[in-house]
Amino acid sequence: MDDGFLGELRDTVQGQRDQAVQFLCDLVRQGSLLGQEQGAQDIMAERFSGMGLEVERFDINLDDIKDLPGFSPPVIDNYAGRENIVGIHHPSGQAGDGQAAGKSLILNGHIDVVPTGDVSLWTSHPFDPVVRDGRVYGRGSADMKAGVVAYCMAFEALRTMGLQPASRVIMQSVVEEECTGNGALACLARGYSADAAVIPEPFHQQLMTAQLGVMWLTVHLTGKPAHVLDTSAGINAIEAAYAVFENLREIEDEWNLPENRHPQYCDHSHPVNFNLGKISGGDWASTVPCSSVVDVRVGFYPGMSLPSVRRRLEDKVADAVKTDPRLNGANARIEYRGFQAEGCVMDEGGDLMTSLADAHRRITNAPIEMMASTATTDCRFFELYGNTPATCYGPQGSDYHGIDEWVSIDSMMEVVQVLAVFMAAWCGVEKR
Ligand SMILES: [Zn+2]
Repeated sequence: MDDGFLGELRDTVQGQRDQAVQFLCDLVRQGSLLGQEQGAQDIMAERFSGMGLEVERFDINLDDIKDLPGFSPPVIDNYAGRENIVGIHHPSGQAGDGQAAGKSLILNGHIDVVPTGDVSLWTSHPFDPVVRDGRVYGRGSADMKAGVVAYCMAFEALRTMGLQPASRVIMQSVVEEECTGNGALACLARGYSADAAVIPEPFHQQLMTAQLGVMWLTVHLTGKPAHVLDTSAGINAIEAAYAVFENLREIEDEWNLPENRHPQYCDHSHPVNFNLGKISGGDWASTVPCSSVVDVRVGFYPGMSLPSVRRRLEDKVADAVKTDPRLNGANARIEYRGFQAEGCVMDEGGDLMTSLADAHRRITNAPIEMMASTATTDCRFFELYGNTPATCYGPQGSDYHGIDEWVSIDSMMEVVQVLAVFMAAWCGVEKR
């Protein structure tokens, strides 16, 4: 890959900037919350088609995936009309200059976004994208619609230069990454495979070397109703919810102790995070509430099995009900819905990582930084169940899952260039 190629690529991508921002804004405008992904997926299907890809769209069939490793019980049961969109590039098989065609590649991104939180806290409406100060603001702009835009634009850049990947490239726009990963699992079950997978999650152009496991659990608490004349006669199920979470947090503290850490997370300030994410309960201000439902997210290290994590959580809750006076007489039942996601570690010295690092250095003139993620990503399906090396490399952004989420346009366009260089090196190129 000579300087002429890099210079031409730089100019080409520079010329794509407005189009990329427009594409991103179009996607953000489709508020693709859980269960409402179709509008954005229609845009993706049209885009893939316009890129000359063979387009496949399909609903997730629970029967196809529910017994597979990596499956997570869905949060909403209905998968009808919530399609995954896949675009497949078939090379012509005529790599230029007598070169052999290279390796195949999956580019994956999720189209779903997390809830906006209180809309009144946003500077502008989360689904009304705003371009300001070199950033695109809006829910999903960073996480991860800019990444989806970036891999499309990288492919388009090569095409504009009269080239295309010389091996198969599969682009996946999947649903439900933010609560189960069942969209990516359904793609795996359908048989898409390649020599590597890249997911441009908004990780500040760092290369992901590991990701934590994530588990969601729902605790159903039953207290004892009573008149507020004497609240001590009852057990307040909402107060009990806090007590249960405080007990669970002892596990979080324990797993964050230096001696209990996975080596990938030695230098992190606080890798394992437990979150009391949602609580509902009670029915009357003058009645001690008798029931509550609590949704908790826990993080755990690669190598810890799902059953061992569950046993640890269940033992802790059972013990708390017996010994914590605030829970005396309460009943707690645990249910698992949403993420049941194992952690994983990437092969830092493998071809995928070294090739991406090289592409990053060529474009930015700086060595790439490595990062171990304290969240989960769909990489786990490729790594753990698909026998496919995978990692994340995507643009800089902020406040995903928060208020006024934004992504840097400069960074997004730099990722376009890096992905184009990587794709050309990994897949080889041929004339269109
Ligand atoms: Zn994401």
